[in-house]
Amino acid sequence: MSVWDDLTGQSAAIEVFRAAAESAAHSAPMSHSPASDAAVAPTAAAATGGAPAATRAGTPADSMTHSWLVTGPPGSGRSNLAYAFASALLCRFGGCGVCSDCSQVAARTHPDLAILATERVIISIDEVRRLVSASQFSPSVSRYRVVVIEDADRMVERTSNVLLKALEEPPERTVWILCAPSEADLLPTIRSRVRSVRLRVPSTDDVAALLVKRDGVDPDLALRAARESQSHIGMAHRLATNDEARARREETIDLALSVSTVGDAVRGAARLLEIAGADAQAITEERDAEERAAALRSLGVEPGQAVPLALRGQMKSLEEDQKRRATRSLRDGIDRILTDLLSLFRDILIVQLGSQVELVNESISPRVREVASSNDSSSTLAAMDAIAVARRRIAANVAPALALEAMLVTVAEAARSASRKVPQ
Ligand SMILES: [Zn+2]
Repeated sequence: MSVWDDLTGQSAAIEVFRAAAESAAHSAPMSHSPASDAAVAPTAAAATGGAPAATRAGTPADSMTHSWLVTGPPGSGRSNLAYAFASALLCRFGGCGVCSDCSQVAARTHPDLAILATERVIISIDEVRRLVSASQFSPSVSRYRVVVIEDADRMVERTSNVLLKALEEPPERTVWILCAPSEADLLPTIRSRVRSVRLRVPSTDDVAALLVKRDGVDPDLALRAARESQSHIGMAHRLATNDEARARREETIDLALSVSTVGDAVRGAARLLEIAGADAQAITEERDAEERAAALRSLGVEPGQAVPLALRGQMKSLEEDQKRRATRSLRDGIDRILTDLLSLFRDILIVQLGSQVELVNESISPRVREVASSNDSSSTLAAMDAIAVARRRIAANVAPALALEAMLVTVAEAARSASRKVPQ
């Protein structure tokens, strides 16, 4: 077993990180000897010099650097890859996946791992300052100190500049791993100082294979979940293993296909909000429970045992983080619904255009085809526009119910099928 096992469809990226971790293991022994300094020096110079990564690839000594950027769309597994790399650097066996270093990285509690993962829209300058000063210390138990910024795209320029200074003169044993959707989301000055590793969107087959192998999901269900999540690994896992999550998605799609009057739109919007709320709550509860269990495990508290007094402060700060995060989750729930609705009209459009691309909602393809043949592509495009408008309005703090109502009125036009009587 190793930390790389559960990363799906990213063999090229894994090879880059695996080689880097291996060369790091040779170039930076735990003891601080002059010989090891000499071995690390050229890499540090290369990193601060900002030469493009590709030109330096090759020899093992060159494959390690101090600053990394992992890019890829949401759900492609960028943070999973970042933490796998962190494990490989912090574990004395190169990322075995089972030792105490690896389990502490998995629980995000390793003493030499610093993390910035924000649920807020913007990363604050103070958060980055704290991280930068933490990055200056020598590692306490491992060869390296690893700093992960999960959403490096959420920094304004002033904040990026604080980070830039740290990236320009990294302490010898500190490794930065930034994650962002794309390189373009970072300032050019930051980009030029990191080695970039791009993830691809895994294919639905890759995601399905992972669910079958890792979670023991039935192959047909795994493929359906992979399609419906549009290869978002976390969402696919949820759709495949959680009946309620699957039922909520089905109801969302069904609702959009059965709205026909303004009254329906009003009731439909209210129902969509309930579904989004229920989904957000379920996700929040699952994640909170998982984090709590992981934190307790890493603190050595057995399941069912009371938390010792000395550790309560740590658990309390976790609970506070979780509370802060809950406020964001309804908006994420609405966003997931809009993504599902968009996939429906994308499928309808694909059929209308006669394209041979695989449908996201293959499981209801007869209905998709029926609606597609009852309408023309201009009304489908209008529905897709309406979904985009609703998303923008909700982001701009318009009451979600109003934004969803207006959207459903337009959607009703495009979702009408000839076989359905439209009541007046
Ligand atoms: Zn390990």
